[in-house]
Amino acid sequence: MSEKQDKIIICRNCGKEFVFSVGEQRFFEEKGLSEPVRCKDCKAKRKEQSSIKEENTEKKQREHKENKNDFEEMLRKFQENTILFEEERVRRENKKKRR
Ligand SMILES: [Zn+2]
Repeated sequence: MSEKQDKIIICRNCGKEFVFSVGEQRFFEEKGLSEPVRCKDCKAKRKEQSSIKEENTEKKQREHKENKNDFEEMLRKFQENTILFEEERVRRENKKKRR
């Protein structure tokens, strides 16, 4: 087994050199991961962005759900009104018949 050495990698994102240390190399090897291509800063930024993205998606889904609930509520009210209207109509019809 060859001795590992700290590696200098150029970040794909910002072009900055960063150290891929022996410890990290071992960790990556253990996990079966390929060498990092971005520095820690860019990685952290990407993570942040993707979590914001996820939050937004969640928010949108929630809003969508709420909109759907609103629509269902509206539909329910509409049906109730229709029933009321129908009952009222029947009542009037009955009154007419009595006369
Ligand atoms: Zn970078």
